[in-house]
Amino acid sequence: MTHEYILEVQVKNTPIIKKKCNRCGNSRFYCSDKFRMNAQKKSLDIWLIYKCSACDSTYNATILSRTKPENINKDLLTMFMENDIRTAWKYAFSIELAKINHMEVDYTSVQYDLITDAPSMAKLLTYSSDQVVLKIQYPIDFNLKVATLIKKALNLSTNQLTKLIDDGMFTIDSKLLQKKDKARNGQLVKINMQMVRALSNM
Ligand SMILES: [Zn+2]
Repeated sequence: MTHEYILEVQVKNTPIIKKKCNRCGNSRFYCSDKFRMNAQKKSLDIWLIYKCSACDSTYNATILSRTKPENINKDLLTMFMENDIRTAWKYAFSIELAKINHMEVDYTSVQYDLITDAPSMAKLLTYSSDQVVLKIQYPIDFNLKVATLIKKALNLSTNQLTKLIDDGMFTIDSKLLQKKDKARNGQLVKINMQMVRALSNM
């Protein structure tokens, strides 16, 4: 018998960027969720506004520069004008935006809730399932490892997690899960419960 559980990652904040503040010397900026637009000679500049976490001075990260309005998707333009928060977050997590602006994004500053209906591994061991499938819902990518999610969801210690991974108890996309594997939206992690049970009885 197979039991399936959902691991849903709900992000709580956008990442901090590491950048030196010209005013106070602090090196952390947070996203204000606001855009700045400037129209000049029929071309548009659009920035995402960041604020220094210590003195609130502003840093503008370039999204579009010297772009003709007719070349920008109308809906997107509306999103910029209305400071649409989903759009702001999309850019705040974007690797492209960081690259263009030479910003160092600190993904470890992102906090999240893990919503799951999965029981602990201790409980799972008492069930009769042969296989457990964990479905990962992870719409916003911030460099999270699959192993971190499994550890949290199944309430495992670091040692228990390491042993289960080393023993090849998890497969993902038909390959054995590695410690360094990054999470992707929609991934299925399969756990061979018969093997886990056999090993835990040894
Ligand atoms: Zn500052």
